Parts: sequence; structure tokens; C-alpha cells
Amino acid sequence: MTTPHSQPLAARRPSANSTLRWVLPIVLVLFFLAILIWLPWQARQMESNERQEQLIADTLWVEQTIRFQLGRDEESLAGLAQEIGLGRLTPEQGHDRLGRVLKNGKELLRVVWLRPDGSLVATSDPQAAPVVLTAASRATMELTRKTRNPMYTQPEVQAANPAAAPSEVLMDYHVPLFSGANYLGDLVATYKTSALLDEMVPWWFAQDNQVTLVDRDDKVLARRAAAGPGHGVYTHKRALDLPGASVRLVTDSVKSAPKLLPNLLVGSVIVLSLGLLWSLVALWGHISRRLAAEGALRQQMSFRTAMENSLVTGLRARDLEGRITYVNPAFCQIVGYPAEDIVGRLPPMPYWAPEAMEEYQTRFASVLAGKVTPQFETFFQRPDGQRVPVLVFEAPLVDNHGKQTGWMGSILDISDRKRVEELNRQQEEKLQASARLATMGEIASMLAHELNQPLAAISSYTTGALNVLGRAQDKGDAVDAGLLKPALEQASAQAQRAGQIIRSVHEFVKKREPLRQSVGIQSLLDGIQALIELQARQSYVSYQTNIPPDLPAVLADRVMIEQVLLNLTRNAIEAMQHIPPQRRVLNVVAEYDAASAQVSVAVIDQGHGIPDEVAQRLFSPFFSTKAEGMGMGLNICRTAIEFHGGSLAYSPNPQGGTIFTFVLPAVTVATEQEN
Ligand code: ADP
Repeated sequence: MTTPHSQPLAARRPSANSTLRWVLPIVLVLFFLAILIWLPWQARQMESNERQEQLIADTLWVEQTIRFQLGRDEESLAGLAQEIGLGRLTPEQGHDRLGRVLKNGKELLRVVWLRPDGSLVATSDPQAAPVVLTAASRATMELTRKTRNPMYTQPEVQAANPAAAPSEVLMDYHVPLFSGANYLGDLVATYKTSALLDEMVPWWFAQDNQVTLVDRDDKVLARRAAAGPGHGVYTHKRALDLPGASVRLVTDSVKSAPKLLPNLLVGSVIVLSLGLLWSLVALWGHISRRLAAEGALRQQMSFRTAMENSLVTGLRARDLEGRITYVNPAFCQIVGYPAEDIVGRLPPMPYWAPEAMEEYQTRFASVLAGKVTPQFETFFQRPDGQRVPVLVFEAPLVDNHGKQTGWMGSILDISDRKRVEELNRQQEEKLQASARLATMGEIASMLAHELNQPLAAISSYTTGALNVLGRAQDKGDAVDAGLLKPALEQASAQAQRAGQIIRSVHEFVKKREPLRQSVGIQSLLDGIQALIELQARQSYVSYQTNIPPDLPAVLADRVMIEQVLLNLTRNAIEAMQHIPPQRRVLNVVAEYDAASAQVSVAVIDQGHGIPDEVAQRLFSPFFSTKAEGMGMGLNICRTAIEFHGGSLAYSPNPQGGTIFTFVLPAVTVATEQEN
């Protein structure tokens, strides 16, 4: 079969494979997201590391610069100290030489030469007020004397120092003066800490960083913040290696942590991730819906396949060109061809019987023209030549857009039905024939009696005629035709009557095929009148008919209806046998009902009527209340009437007795035209 349903539809369960199919993309997407989030963080980290390293390098450089400058000053002062120690420098020369040291750089506020008791020998600035050393500075002086090594004092505000602003943080540098082991005093150079920064930190560095000098407790000694305060993100601390003082250089970049780029990156990563997640969820939903729909479809397919395979009705779908697009197994069984031989074929079909080819072609042409016969009987031919009678129902095939795409036909194999019908028909015929014979057996004796009459009459008329002839012969006279003619006419009439009786019996008994024709009720009654009257006379029943002259004819088999009438009239006559003779009246009345276009015929008697227990089994075969009754009469009557598309019923007669009524379709003008 080329149809999809023939493929085995194994129910697919979710396997380990399909789980992997799901897990893998999810893991990959999560991994991708993790990398996306990690990347900007990493970039930021790298950038900040780079800036930090740069700052450290720059700070180192600044520290070196400061150290270098201080080194130069230290060297100059050491040279001076040496000269003083050797006694080459008088106090008068000292003023001038100290003033020259000051020219080394602006960071030096002043330089003084002190005796061991702290009194001034010379100063770089003779105009300035006398020097007053702070306590810390004096302690340092004492220390230098002991250690014989130059030392710095811890920077502080020297309120008593007249050379500086009151809040200025100053730092002294003591160089001890020795002549051999003889302590001569100290050279004291005073530094302005703020000038250290202003003079020694290059401008480009100050532009980007806040530079601070702090002591051991992080107290600010001097600060340079040309570009505003630092942000505290990139900072570096570096101790200035000054003997006796603890001063540290702190740089703090004015740059804040890298922001814009990571923000942009993080933002886009979040948006991208959300988008990705959303599309993943949407995809997931879509796929789940698809899977569900697929499952439902598959289930429906298997249900449909099971249904189609279990059907005994053949199914055949054709497209608008008449090409077969689908057949079910039942159809293949009916026509005896496998689906591969039929599906996709255009007429003529292999199962068309040659003798009905024309019929098929005409029907097919009308199908192509869009006119389909919704139901028809035909027959197909199997490959072995056997003919299969079928009943075909056709309906348009419409797709989900409401557009017709072809035709769907269901085909019933009616071989069995046909066989049964044929068997029934034969049985019925046999039954009718035997019923007719039985009826005949009954009336045969009456017939003998009845024929006696005309025969006796014929005999007496012919005897009379012979007498007339004999007398004329004896006298030698001519025969008197006036005497002879009536006798012979009577004899002839009687002979005809006898002949008619015999003929009607013969007609009635003859076995024949049913033949429908248009017959009048009156002519039907005329045909059997002799037989009815024969029975009626026997039972002293008076027989009357009341048939309107304009009554339409009925379409019927004459003999069958005659037998119905004979049966009903005989039953009626027999029902009246035991009632007073004056009431024994048999009446046959017919009328036409225009609304239903039917002719009804009533056989009315005034007999003993039908009790309830008899009524229940009235139409059952072989039911009879009569000693010699066969019980088939009413059963045959009903079958015969229904065969003609009519119905048989009975009702009690208001005047006593029973009325049996049958109706038959009338032959109207319309039905005449049809025929
Ligand atoms: P049969 O005449 O051989 O008995 P039928 O089938 O014709 O068989 O009738 C069955 C029974 O129906 C009769 O035996 C009779 O009892 C009853 N029957 C039929 N017609 C009449 C009638 N017109 N009046 C009363 N009884 C009737």
C-alpha cells in the first residue's frame, strides 16, 4: 500500500537519545551565557590591573625623583660639613655658602649652622629672625651628635619658625659637624614638605593623581591635588627612605573604576542572554506543542487505520480527475486487486466489467462534470472474472479549507443480499403458486358444479335446436331461423361463459414472472368476478361493488392483486356463513386519495368479526381458525401488497363484521409521464 497508514506506527517512547538531545543544547547555552558574563568582568579586571601597574611605576618614578633631589641637597650639606670640620670655613663665609645651598631647589626654606648649645653661627637668611629649634629637632641634634650621622626630624608644624607660614609642615635635616672627635655643632636644613611635592612631582603626574606625604599614622604632611581629590580606586604607598623620619608618599589616581565599557557590555550581555533564554523557552514551547500535536495525530492515525482495516465497507477516494488516491483493505477484498494495482490509476479501472463499460464511462463523465449519483447499484469484476454486485455511495471529499479535492465512495458488497433476495423471491413464488393451487383445489369442486349449469343449458339449447331441426326435416319444411337462432345464441353465450370460467382459472394458476402494468380496479374485479360470484352464490351471499368510474388505475401485477382480492373476498364470504342470510352482503368499495396519490380498496363483510386473540396472529403464516384452512391467505396478501409499495390493514365494520383495506400507489399523470 502506498498510503501512509500502512507504515507501522510504532509508539515512540522518549529514549536516552532524546534526553541527550535536550540536555546538550541547554548545557551549551548555559556555558555560553557564563562566558558572556565572565568576559566583561575579565576585561574590567585586566584594565584595572593595568592602571594599577602604571600607577605603581609612576609612583616609583616620583619617589626616585624626590630621593634624587634630597640626595643632591644631602651631598651639598655633607661637603659643607666637611669643610667646617677641617676649619676651612669661617662663620662669615658660612652665610654666603649656606645661601648657595638654598639655590639647589625651592624645597629648602633655609639652612643654619648651629653650635652644640644651639646658638647660631651662620644662616642662609641673615635678615630673618633668630632660629628656635623645636623639641623634636633638638632631640635629633642630640642624636646626630651621638651617632655622628646626618638625620631628618619627623615633619611637623613649627609654629615658632618665623620663616614659614604658621600652618606649614616643616622637616629639619641635621648634619653633625666634627673636627676629629670634637663636636662643633649641626648644619640644619629646613624643608617645606609642600614644596617637596610642588617642586619634585612632574606636572603630568600631578594632573592624573592626588599626591600626598603622610607620616607613620597616616597624618597628612603635604598634599598636591591639582586635578581634584583621588578616587581611592588606584592607590599606591611608598616609603621615602629618610633616616630619622617616617614619611611615605601616597598616590591616589583621580580615575575611577572602568565603568562605561563594562556597563555597555554587561547590559548587552544581559539583553542578549534574556533574548536567548526567551527564544529558547519559546522554541521549547513550540516543540512541545508540535510533539503533542504529532502524538495526537499519530494516535488518531492508528485509530483511523484500525477502523479502516476493520471496516467491511470498501472505501475509495478519487481526486477531481478521477484518479484513485486511496483504497482501504475492504475495497481491495471486494474487487480482488491489491492496492498497488489500483491507487494512482485513472479510468478505465481493472475491475470494470466489459459488458458494463459504457455505464461506467457515462457515470464517470458525469462525475468529472461535477454531478455525482449519490447512490447506485452496479457490479465489479474480479480478476478471475467473477462479478460482484455492489452498492456505491458517493460524496464530495472536502479538505480543511472547505475546498473540494475529490470524491469519497463507500462500496458495499451486496452479493449476499442479492442471493437472499433471489431466494426469497423464489420461495414467495413457490408459496404463491401453491396457495393458488390450494385455492383452486377448493374452488375446483365448485367449478364443476358451476360448469354444470352452462353445460346443462348448452345441452338443453342444442337439444331444443336439434328438435326444431328434426321437426323441420320430418315435415320437409325449411328450418325456421327465427326459432333456431335464439337457442343457438343462448348456447353460444353459455359456452363462452363456461370458457371464461375455465380461462380465468387457468390464468390464475399459471406460473409466471410478476409484471407491473397500469390496471384499473374495475377491470381487475371484472377478471375475477366469475370466481367471486361462484363462491358467493354457494354461500348465498349477495356481492356488490362500488367503484367510481373516474378512479385512477394502479401500477400492479394483475394476477397478484387478483389473488389478493380473491383471498379477501373468500375470507369475507366464509366469515358470513353462519349469520342470517339477509345480512350476508359482500361489498367491495374503492376510492382515490389525491393527497397521498393512492387508491384504496376495501372488502367489507358483516361476518363474525375478528376477536383479539385471532387479531394478534392474523398475518402469521399457517395461522387459521378454519378446519381446512391453510392459514397462508392473509400473509401472502400482505407480502403482495407491500411488494407493490402499498399496505394492507383491517378494522372492525361498524355494522358488524370486518373491513380489510389495501392501498396501492395510483398511476397519476406524473407517473405516467415518468414511465
Ligand atoms: P385461512 O383463510 O386459510 O384460514 P387466512 O390467512 O386467509 O387463512 O386467514 C386467517 C384467519 O383470519 C382465518 O382463519 C380467520 O379466522 C381470520 N379471518 C380472515 N379474514 C376474516 C374476516 N373477513 N372475518 C373474520 N375473520 C377473518
